[in-house]
Order: sequence, then C-alpha cells, then structure tokens
Amino acid sequence: MPPQPNYRWQCHRCQTINEPGIERCGACGFSAYATGYEILGQEDPLSASIPESKQLFWEGIARAIHLVVGSLFLGASGWSMFIVATFNPWVFWGGLLIGAALLAIGIFGSRRAVYDLLYVGWV
Ligand SMILES: [Zn+2]
Repeated sequence: MPPQPNYRWQCHRCQTINEPGIERCGACGFSAYATGYEILGQEDPLSASIPESKQLFWEGIARAIHLVVGSLFLGASGWSMFIVATFNPWVFWGGLLIGAALLAIGIFGSRRAVYDLLYVGWV
C-alpha cells in the first residue's frame, strides 16, 4: 500500500481538492498516487511520458524516417533493374516490398505503428 499523503492534494482525474490523509479521491475514488499512465488514461508508455506537442514532432520524424528508408529500398530495387550485372531478383522484390511497406506505414500508418517499427529497428 502506498503511504497516505500528508498534504492537501488535487485529484488527477476530476480536479477535486482532497484533505491530507485521504488515499483516494473523495469524489471519484482515483488514487492519490497514480502513475503517469493512469493519470493520462493511456496504456502506451511513450504517449504517457511525452507531451502531445513533442509527440507530434517525433511522430513527424518517425514518419520521415520511414519515407526516407522506404525510398532507399525502392531506389535499390530500381537500381538493380538497370544494372544487369548486379541484377538480383531478391534485391529487386525485397527492395520493392520493403520499400512499399515502409512508405505505406510512413504515410498511412498510425502513430503506434510508426513508433513500433522504429523500436524494432533500434532494439
Ligand atoms: Zn477525483
């Protein structure tokens, strides 16, 4: 059990002011010691820890990375077509598929999707 607050506190959820020694909001029952997740009502750790304006910024970066990397794959695919000596169907189709998928996610994917893919790429 978390310690009871020994100061007056404002409920994170309904903004009610609660007296010291009360562990849960008298109006809505929300815990005095909520985690960042609970306060924001989100299950996504990234969303919960970063303000919306920064999220939009990083989402833009994440999408841009997808577009650039996707273009590189498509470029490699196209390039392999013109250089007969290095033509390799795996490079061609792999580049085409991966590039198209990255572009599609970068443009149409949800914020979650672009973040998840970057995590996979980095970890
Ligand atoms: Zn409350």
